[in-house]
Amino acid sequence: MSTAGFNSQNGTGTGQTYANGPSQNPVALQQLPGVSYGMTHQPSYNPMPAKAPPPTGPGLYPSAPYQPVPPVSSYQPGPQITSYPSSPGQPLLPRPPLSGPPSHTPPQSASPSPGPRMPPAQATPPPPAVSSSSYYPSPQQPMAPAWQYNTAPPPMGPPTSISTPPRGPVANHVNPAASLAEPLPPSLAPYSTAPPPRVSQSVTQPPGPGMPPTSMLGYTQPGTAPPPMNPMVPNTYQPGRPAYGPPPTGPSPIGPPPIMKPTPPPTGTPVANTTPPPPKGDAGLAQPGPPGRHLGHYPSLPPGYQNASAPHGTSSMHPAMQAAMQPYTQAPQPYQQPPGGPGPAQLSPSLAAMSLQSSTPEALRVVNLLQERNLLPPTPVPAPTPCLPQDLQKINCNPEVFRCTLTSIPQTQSLLNKAKMPLGLLLHPFKDLSQLPVVTSSTIVRCRSCRTYINPFVSFLDQRRWKCNLCYRVNDVPEEFMYNPVSRSYGEPHKRPEVQNATIEFIAPSEYMLRPPQPAVYLFVLDVSHNAVETGYLNVFCQSLLDNINALPGDSRTKVGFITFDSTIHFYNLQEGLSQPQMLIVSDIEDIFLPTPDSLLVNLNECKELVQDLLKSLPTLFGKTMETQSALGSALQAAFKLLSPTGGRMSVFQTQLPNLGVGALQSREDPNQRASAKDIQHLSPATDFYKKLALDCSGQQVAVDLFLLSAQYCDLASLGCISRYSAGSVYYYPSYHHQHSPAQVERFQKDLKRYLTRKIGFEAVMRIRCTKGLSIHTFHGNFFVRSTDLLSLPNVNPDAGFAVQMSIEDNLDDMQVVSFQAALLYTSSKGERRIRVHTLCLPVVSSLSDIFSGADVQAMTGLLACMAVDRSVTASLSDARDAMTNAAIDSLTSYRQSVLTIQQPGLLAPACLRLFPLYILALLKQKAFRTGTSTRLDDRVFAMCQLKYQPLFYAMLMIHPALYRVDDLTDEGALNINERTIPQPRVLQLSVEKLSREGAFLMDTGTVMYLWIGRNCHPNFLTQVLGVPNYAAVPENLYLLPELDTAESQRTRAFVGWLRDQRPFYPSLHVIRDESQLKANFMQNMIEDRTASALSYYEFLLHLQQQISK
Ligand SMILES: [Zn+2]
Repeated sequence: MSTAGFNSQNGTGTGQTYANGPSQNPVALQQLPGVSYGMTHQPSYNPMPAKAPPPTGPGLYPSAPYQPVPPVSSYQPGPQITSYPSSPGQPLLPRPPLSGPPSHTPPQSASPSPGPRMPPAQATPPPPAVSSSSYYPSPQQPMAPAWQYNTAPPPMGPPTSISTPPRGPVANHVNPAASLAEPLPPSLAPYSTAPPPRVSQSVTQPPGPGMPPTSMLGYTQPGTAPPPMNPMVPNTYQPGRPAYGPPPTGPSPIGPPPIMKPTPPPTGTPVANTTPPPPKGDAGLAQPGPPGRHLGHYPSLPPGYQNASAPHGTSSMHPAMQAAMQPYTQAPQPYQQPPGGPGPAQLSPSLAAMSLQSSTPEALRVVNLLQERNLLPPTPVPAPTPCLPQDLQKINCNPEVFRCTLTSIPQTQSLLNKAKMPLGLLLHPFKDLSQLPVVTSSTIVRCRSCRTYINPFVSFLDQRRWKCNLCYRVNDVPEEFMYNPVSRSYGEPHKRPEVQNATIEFIAPSEYMLRPPQPAVYLFVLDVSHNAVETGYLNVFCQSLLDNINALPGDSRTKVGFITFDSTIHFYNLQEGLSQPQMLIVSDIEDIFLPTPDSLLVNLNECKELVQDLLKSLPTLFGKTMETQSALGSALQAAFKLLSPTGGRMSVFQTQLPNLGVGALQSREDPNQRASAKDIQHLSPATDFYKKLALDCSGQQVAVDLFLLSAQYCDLASLGCISRYSAGSVYYYPSYHHQHSPAQVERFQKDLKRYLTRKIGFEAVMRIRCTKGLSIHTFHGNFFVRSTDLLSLPNVNPDAGFAVQMSIEDNLDDMQVVSFQAALLYTSSKGERRIRVHTLCLPVVSSLSDIFSGADVQAMTGLLACMAVDRSVTASLSDARDAMTNAAIDSLTSYRQSVLTIQQPGLLAPACLRLFPLYILALLKQKAFRTGTSTRLDDRVFAMCQLKYQPLFYAMLMIHPALYRVDDLTDEGALNINERTIPQPRVLQLSVEKLSREGAFLMDTGTVMYLWIGRNCHPNFLTQVLGVPNYAAVPENLYLLPELDTAESQRTRAFVGWLRDQRPFYPSLHVIRDESQLKANFMQNMIEDRTASALSYYEFLLHLQQQISK
């Protein structure tokens, strides 16, 4: 694969440390005890307790002496809001004296120390001859130990051992929490004084509002699949088993046993851990593809790509679809596996059976792409199922959460090089889950050597020892772990929920904290310039926040604050006791400071009325402003200062190019060059101001989310850095206007509702570990790489996706399986420190054909898209385009040369890769990477942001939209969900030849849906669904389906609503006639067709064939 340049990473280029420079007020982060930040109004939270550990090294904090802020006279408080005159930009009349000038400002952050750069992917020697013998060369043989059993087992106790060496060059000096992925040695853990285990506190993990219940039930069924190599015990879970309670007395000599607290699911169904094992067929529902490949033979049907229904009826559905259906399909189904699953005696033979390759798997069926025209399956493509023994696969991680580009891992790097396919992981770690096992325990069991969390893929040597599946160290089973809260029995460590669930959440004991968990803190930074007021967004924002103010995630400590800005910065004193909000204007934007640091962020509960008053008055407050300038940079600096003591979330709303003060930008786009430019310039930031500020924010646990609402060029390539490196999100509403773009307004409203109410994790870090021999080297997403493999996420939200690239450093030839574990440590909005752990297990294979048969074409496409974004920025767009095309050429060449035994004419692909050229062509025509078409630079950059940031499911809709004919929907094959009938039209190829003037077609691109109405559309559809008498009467700006009481209307709305329910954001709908202006947007997604500047699918295939046969 010609992807030599695909190796940049987020955080690259940060080799130097970013200090705040000679900035003002360099208050040392590690402040002296007794110095107050003036946060006296925080009832229960001291942002920087004196107990905080000492700085870990010299020279890391600004050491310049403290300097006071400018004198008070340099700012003037504004008037009371109700008397605000018509020109808000001016510092105004004297008003009642303030409670006092600020004595100093909150601390600046110290310089974050970016992690060392990743080593580039190593050049590898030419691949040796590859044996294409079989899976699992010596399956009977247990895993060769890469360790020596320690005859002197380590003492019992918490896994935090001083002797445990830190992993990697941890350089998170700035951010104390950054080191928390690893528990501190007791000597450094200030809060580690033996916390009592929680006993009866209710733990809930509600899904984000507006989310359909997605269920993990199917693959986290407890009890049905014992962990590998365990002493197998028949399944003991019984229906009607009493709820968890206190353990029987006696069995646990060391302290009280942990309490397992299942999450009450919203539907009232029992939690995974308490659920009796449903029939096995049920598990198949949540697992895409056939219900686990049975041992010893390949399934007769592949995990995807079937035009007919897969054996299970539902198994060819999209995972999201299965998830949506899952709660409604609990009816007993044939249970094929004997109760209790295979015992240990069966396990090894079953692995052995895997090596018997009896026939060519469907995934390797040869497809001549030039001849097979209809490659798309009728329903969205599911993830392939890893070729693992059924009992392992049954408890494997949900592919919606954790997915690998190759579901069979090559044994060596040279084998991987020969296959020429990208190797990487795609993660959606904080996805909303309706059922998530939550464990409270004073001891979280982890490997003493590599810190891996105990998981379903470890092996128990006996009841007292378990072997790590990542580093193979043998660890002791802590006494506490001997008690199983699920079965309420003693001596079954292998049946603990941690060993039965590939996704699990722990409530962290105090050694996972360096300071008390921060409260939920929300700061809103609002553009109120003339341009902003013109768009009318402020009204929507304020109304949305008013509507959802009681649904903001948080607890009694939750704080909020507001800053508005144009050419000056406006603060709002919301101090309890004031009769109305008080506006304070700072016009000295070059040297920004906080006028009343302790009354700008206030407790939401205590000051709710003032906050509501402010939100009601804000939209009109600036109604007549003529101020056109935008001092965004200064506003961000002010917001950073305000949030620094606590951390939190900064939500920035911007409507124009910032043009005043620090961070000011100039337009870099020449609209006339959009289509003709040889290569696209200005994809990288114009200034490092936003990146530096983002790194400062990251160091202080502040994430910045950017809402960009603008018709003009705003230089998203520069502005976006503020979110990218602080783990924020970017929302973009081009040409937003409250009157002219009703669909945008609707999407903004729905997005805001989701944004304000979705789950949020604060001060988070994520670490991804993998089995020894594998190496993670490049990360994609929004975060900052704080040490080699520790991602700093000041906020984590359920809509964020991540990707990583991997290489194989040591041969894996003595391994049958490898594992990957993502651990996300975060503070919940209720102030709990929690750890969410996902573990994925995949087989290791030694032959190219096995590697190919396990290829996950969607995951490969998603990872290549991330790599291509980096390549576009670091090299050039044309480079990135070439690399993507080469990825298709290289993999198919390798397949032809190394796997195909009989050479045939044509462009040949294994069935599992048959969509690869189509997806690559789709990427080349995607807004992010297309050429020869007029594409606004901000639109292009935003598409790049989305490709890097969205979870794979949504990114794939963006890359290859789904097209359906909807004028003839029927109930045939429909789903039935909550007594609603959801029609299931088949997915059509993206070609105009699939359109018909007599029909109506829905295109789902992820964030936008288009409903194209043919000129001769059947009158029945027009009247019964759109409520118009004829085609000419279809309005130009229709973006809602009227709620008509007809069967056709109900079907259509049910289908559109069901599609929307499957994603957390709100796709807008545009109804377009054939002559509509938006028709071009619809048609440009017809990926298979030729355009003036791009090849048709068939031409692209011919091009590939030409290159491959060279
Ligand atoms: Zn380990």
